[in-house]
Amino acid sequence: MNPTPTSRPQRVAILGSTGSIGVSTLDVMARHPERFQVAGLSAWRRIDELAAQCRQWRPRHAVVPTDAAAAQLRALLGPAGVEVRVGERALCEMASDPDVDSVMAAIVGAAGLAPCLAAAHAGKRLLLANKEALVVGGALFVQAVRAGGATMLPIDSEHSAIFQCLPPDAARWPAFIDRIILTASGGPFRTRDPASFAAITPAQAVAHPNWVMGRKISVDSATMMNKALEVIEARWLFDLEPSRIEVVIHPQSIIHSMVVCRDASVLAQLGTPDMRVPIAYGLSFPERIESGASRLDFSAMAGLSFEPPDAARFPGLRLAYEVLSGAEGDSVVLNAANEVAVESFLEGRIGFPQIHAVNVGTLAALAGKGPPPAGLEDLLDLDARSRDVARSHAARLT
Ligand code: NAD
Ligand code: MG
Repeated sequence: MNPTPTSRPQRVAILGSTGSIGVSTLDVMARHPERFQVAGLSAWRRIDELAAQCRQWRPRHAVVPTDAAAAQLRALLGPAGVEVRVGERALCEMASDPDVDSVMAAIVGAAGLAPCLAAAHAGKRLLLANKEALVVGGALFVQAVRAGGATMLPIDSEHSAIFQCLPPDAARWPAFIDRIILTASGGPFRTRDPASFAAITPAQAVAHPNWVMGRKISVDSATMMNKALEVIEARWLFDLEPSRIEVVIHPQSIIHSMVVCRDASVLAQLGTPDMRVPIAYGLSFPERIESGASRLDFSAMAGLSFEPPDAARFPGLRLAYEVLSGAEGDSVVLNAANEVAVESFLEGRIGFPQIHAVNVGTLAALAGKGPPPAGLEDLLDLDARSRDVARSHAARLT
């Protein structure tokens, strides 16, 4: 693993700096100005917020999606010395810039794949929040990390928890791990009558009981597709057979996940549900720094409970295991279908139960059909075809 640079501040590029993870990352970094510098920032919308971040942090680069957004940002910043650049290529260049030590991948969706791969090839410390990129990239992503000599540090709270329970040397993991248990809160509809799921509104679906997050991951938590994506993410991060990845519902979100060791010992990582904890660990690994999160108060804790996921209530979870036992591109199809379905739901074009219908329909049309993706272009091509199929499926449901 690449050592943390200790003699000078760590230079961090944040892809998706205006999102929930991006803002929390800057919050942790602001607590340690001697340790961290912002080397680059990027946003898709909310250019005013990006401008405010640029004024505060003075990064060398800022990346936006369009020329119009670049003009807006330049007008807001004036001659501030920030180089404003446009588009995916600029994101990839920022992620692989020699003046960047660490890349926080906090874009949502498969849109983050290309810059993640660029960071992997360039041997960066890659702080991976963008789970969809790993779900879509799969084996190719892991190969790029290995070939580039990059260090991948999980930011997703469950995967950070598992990583924190494991020995630092990944070569020891196979002999150490019997299985892992990903915890899931069960989201806002864990106890709601499934007969009323058709009436769920986007506002209800994004109101997560324990975590404040971006809209897409909040809907994924409500369907438990988030946990399905996390099963696939764990398969690649920890090189585990899917049969050794379990999911348990733990509504309090205090235990963030567990490792069952070969000797039947169970190791868990606990904490308040605050993403600044895994973010701080990714930034400071292998050390520990103040994250800003409040401490657990065991004397005030009513109890920790566990239940198996209800397959009828959360049918999306099994799709993770189906695609992992299917053809190589099937995870790409599932992820693309789900991104389209969630967007359609958030825009009020389909109902909540139809998210699963779009996912199943798209998989039925495309899973196992094509040759295995051989590179980024193949992945993006399959992603685009899957989105087309998912869109027409969603249109038939409206
Ligand atoms: P968010 O929607 O709050 O922020 C997404 C960021 O990406 C924004 O800065 C946005 O401008 C940018 N972006 C959106 N679409 C883009 C595109 N097409 N191209 C380039 N940039 C784009 O999302 P979030 O909740 O911060 O989640 C980010 C990632 O982290 C997701 O993959 C999510 O699954 C993962 N994650 C989030 C949390 C959380 O607590 N929020 C927890 C675990 C994992
Ligand atoms: Mg998670």
